[in-house]
Amino acid sequence: MSVRELVVLGTASQVPTRHRNHNGYLLRWDGEGILFDPGEGTQRQMLRAGVAAHDLNRLCVTHFHGDHSLGLAGVIQRINLDRVPHPVVAHYPRSGQRFFDRLRYATAYRETVQLVQEPVSGGGGTLAGTPAYELWARRLSHPVEAYGYALVEPDGRRMLPERLAAHGIAGPDVGRLQREGSLGGVSLDEVSEVRRGQRFAFVMDTRLCEGVYELAEGCDMLVIESTFLDEDERLAVEHGHLTAGQAARVAADAGVRHLVLTHFSQRYADPAEFERQARAAGFDGELTVARDLMRVSLPKRRQAV
Ligand SMILES: [Zn+2]
Repeated sequence: MSVRELVVLGTASQVPTRHRNHNGYLLRWDGEGILFDPGEGTQRQMLRAGVAAHDLNRLCVTHFHGDHSLGLAGVIQRINLDRVPHPVVAHYPRSGQRFFDRLRYATAYRETVQLVQEPVSGGGGTLAGTPAYELWARRLSHPVEAYGYALVEPDGRRMLPERLAAHGIAGPDVGRLQREGSLGGVSLDEVSEVRRGQRFAFVMDTRLCEGVYELAEGCDMLVIESTFLDEDERLAVEHGHLTAGQAARVAADAGVRHLVLTHFSQRYADPAEFERQARAAGFDGELTVARDLMRVSLPKRRQAV
């Protein structure tokens, strides 16, 4: 069984609180682990959440403010201490290369693992493609250069056993039909249906901008910052952030199925208010106001069209 879930390591913006660690999120996508925005304390939060350094294949940093990147130093050293047996790829804004270099080499340690640096620049673009997903980035709008990330699984085809049986197709012929598109006058369309690919996006620290909408479009799960409540929208715009209502309206317009709100300002004591404002803004899909150490499964695939 392939696992696709979000493991929330921390949910605080700017400073940790008694109940919230700095940001940090692991996305498990089949056999891969993608760590987004490791803030300070991420290494310990991983331990508490049951995430090992071996689970990490990619590091994706939206921007170089401390709550999104201070944890790189510890996480990178731990990857090396544990001698992770596969290469780890890091994506981050190219304009912050000097910060990445400092965090990567914050103190002395023995490098044992291949850490591949693949920075993002310009408007973003496609960063990687595997059979399970395409990873791309889009520029966001924040006082320092920031990028959001999206994983998009290509559509596939699901073979329908009863139709295969009706046409007497079995064994190695199924593979031949899949490769060649038809077999003995039977087309692939007749014995299979579209399997809709899944889509995930991670949007941190930004005002509303085109990149936010592009990333959110049609997501099965959208993890998005809502630093402020709606009554503080002026502050949000000034500091390059979103309110709960803004984030929820983006999600509603984009047809998001499961919305995860996070990156909360320390000024708010009651998380329920984020949920109330997101609902008031018209989002009626699944909604999670993130708490540290929670796990959120991706929704089941959409039905074939
Ligand atoms: Zn932040």
